[in-house]
Amino acid sequence: MNAVKTGSHAASTLEKTPVRDLVDGKGQTSGAEWLTRYSTSLMGVFGTPQRVLVRGAGCLVWDADGKEYLDLLGGIAVNALGHAHPFVTSVISSQLATLGHVSNFFTSPTQIALAEKLLALTHAPAGSKVFFANSGTEAVEAAFKLARRNGASPDGTTGKRTKIIALEGAFHGRTMGALALTAKEAYRAPFEPLPGGVVHIPFGDVAALEAAIDETVAAVFLEPIQGEAGVRPLPPGYLKAAREATTKAGALLILDEVQTGIGRTGKWLATEDAGIVPDAITLAKGLGGGFPIGALLTFGEQTSSLLAAGQHGTTFGGNPVATAAALATLHAIESQRVLENVAAVGDYLRAGIAAVDGVTEVRGEGLLIGFDLDADMAPAVVTAGLDAGFIINSPGPHTIRLAPPLVLTRDQAGTFLAVLPAILQTAKDAQ
Ligand SMILES: *Cc1c(COP(=O)(O)O)cnc(C)c1O
Repeated sequence: MNAVKTGSHAASTLEKTPVRDLVDGKGQTSGAEWLTRYSTSLMGVFGTPQRVLVRGAGCLVWDADGKEYLDLLGGIAVNALGHAHPFVTSVISSQLATLGHVSNFFTSPTQIALAEKLLALTHAPAGSKVFFANSGTEAVEAAFKLARRNGASPDGTTGKRTKIIALEGAFHGRTMGALALTAKEAYRAPFEPLPGGVVHIPFGDVAALEAAIDETVAAVFLEPIQGEAGVRPLPPGYLKAAREATTKAGALLILDEVQTGIGRTGKWLATEDAGIVPDAITLAKGLGGGFPIGALLTFGEQTSSLLAAGQHGTTFGGNPVATAAALATLHAIESQRVLENVAAVGDYLRAGIAAVDGVTEVRGEGLLIGFDLDADMAPAVVTAGLDAGFIINSPGPHTIRLAPPLVLTRDQAGTFLAVLPAILQTAKDAQ
């Protein structure tokens, strides 16, 4: 039989090879052995990984030494439905077995259906459009290029809008354009000069924003809740003021919902009750339920036509498997009433954390939670958490962040609350 004509691959022993045969033959390599191999073969940009994880199911993961963890970080707000979700897994597998990749000279039904679904979920006005990327930083990078086209002259050169505004504490990604929007000096300084014209203004200060916006500003980039800065929400009224000031000056208002979007706060978008319509939104992290995908949504006809044919592109963006993964994730969140769970378990966790001795402030919404400690011991708390079987994160020296799967149960949250005092005590003793 001719494989070309039948469209099938020839049967071979390759078909039944488990992944572990490709990596270590028996699945018996210890975490310490893996980390030795890691340090000799992987670039050191992430430091030493905390654990080597080999398997996950729901909100639980297991490391190479067989230890079990409750995952309260969810791959940093990525594993929206936990690990190995059966529905997402089956949709991804069946799409991969049907059509895994096509170039953007072509399109595929999952890409189109996902774009339509995202525009519907975000109540995007007529004429709104979607650009698919593969990560958060790429979605932001596309938004940066969109901003550069705002106010461009008819001959196609960029115009007088040379400035872009972002906030102190902002995190928008690590590629050069997104890095220019990111505020942290330690991330920026080694790579200067960065794409020009970005001005960082004080966080949450409406007067500073109004003073900074004029006709030379192309766009304002805002995170509704600054995630990497320790889960800091914008003050009430800020988004409305930003919308008014940007509209008046003809600047774009671009909301970076890479971390806060797709149900993280108990709503599809953190900003959906803010009473404003932005010009663009970036999404990524939770969108693919663990599969890499990013998206830039542009609102309205005018903004959506700023990037003309040929002015942006990507090889992988909008890939059939990634877009199928996102469709499956959105469908599961909708049909399993996951947003209600996010709100309820989030409230329960925040109340429980606030009652623990040594916690000075709790912030966030839904299952994006940050809390401050009365001492600079957050890294020690992360270590004590791991030893106790909980994956948590420290975005700052006295701040802990949780961004668990949106399907975390109240009982699972309760197991963390029960041991949190002991975890803090262990960290304190280690100081
Ligand atoms: C994580 C994050 C990014 C960058 O996303 P990557 O997928 O890591 O490139 C951008 N913006 C915000 C708000 C984020 O939280």
